[in-house]
Amino acid sequence: MYRLVLKKVWSIISIFFLLLFHWCRADTVRICIWEGNQKPSLEQFKGKYRGQLSLLRWNKKYMVINTMDVEEYLFGVVGKEMGNTWPFEALKAQAVCSRTLLYYYKDISAKKKLPYDVTDTIYHQVYGGVFSENENIIKAVEETSSQVLAGQTDGNEYNIVPSFFHACCGGHTNSASDMWGNKYCLMEGVKDPYCSETPFFTWHRVFTKDDLKSITGLEISSIRVLNFNKSGRCSQIELQGTWGKRIIEADNLRMMTVNNSTTFASKKSLPSTMFTITCNGNEFIFDGKGYGHGVGLCQWGARRMAEQGKDYVEILKYYFPELKLITIQQFKTVKHNISLEKPQTGGRYDFSSTASSCLS
Ligand SMILES: [Zn+2]
Repeated sequence: MYRLVLKKVWSIISIFFLLLFHWCRADTVRICIWEGNQKPSLEQFKGKYRGQLSLLRWNKKYMVINTMDVEEYLFGVVGKEMGNTWPFEALKAQAVCSRTLLYYYKDISAKKKLPYDVTDTIYHQVYGGVFSENENIIKAVEETSSQVLAGQTDGNEYNIVPSFFHACCGGHTNSASDMWGNKYCLMEGVKDPYCSETPFFTWHRVFTKDDLKSITGLEISSIRVLNFNKSGRCSQIELQGTWGKRIIEADNLRMMTVNNSTTFASKKSLPSTMFTITCNGNEFIFDGKGYGHGVGLCQWGARRMAEQGKDYVEILKYYFPELKLITIQQFKTVKHNISLEKPQTGGRYDFSSTASSCLS
């Protein structure tokens, strides 16, 4: 009898510690680092990644999945997405944005029941494994450990807000809802004086009629911008030819040019939608500003802010005036009425209290 009771108590204690271990353990992420029709050998991936590697078959395709701790994953992302020699406070701001985006993508993939959380490509965030890590990046991730950006999206409830980023905003960041529709809130554009002397602030592209035919499939005789959004980016473009007129979203045209040339850096791709168009005989001249979709953190602006002595909290506060910096643990335990007076891992917290002063 005594032994039976002891056995039961022991099993209860074991279950308790198992649950405690599960609750306390660090979050993990599953990254799809390879996908194809032929079964690969895992040997070729060994030594390049932290964590575990596994091979699975899903939807008639083979996938190599790298499973690891979220913070260690970020060691392989921040330098790829920003540049591993950038100023330390800018790297910290990037670490927070990348971590926040990861949790956002994890949630989407869980809802879709995918066998991975993210891929290692630009469709999520570029992840390069251990060869893209360095001491500064690891320190930037560690000093912002578990910090994410959240906003009050529904009554009192806080949610992770996808803190998108881009290379250069061209002087004004873009509103997420203007760019992708109303499901993205709390990401209004801000005027940005910091990126004005950076490499991508202005650009010039020339497309011939033949170029545009290979990009759009249409013989185009004239193009004009129909309207601009409040950040100064083109919203819609009107294309005209002997076949009639067609209206397309400016960002669709931008992505068509990128896909056609396969690289953002090509002289035949549009870096952003902040442009004007002039026609000159057989040519269409695009004069523009900025690089990327323009939503969220302007990386070149963040770099300049860091060079001027601003810390990562000031940088994030500038580009995300409607959001709060919290830890993922706080987010999971208290989704309602988040009241943050003291950070757990460094920095200051309540962004929104001074939001209006950040908007100009
Ligand atoms: Zn900018």
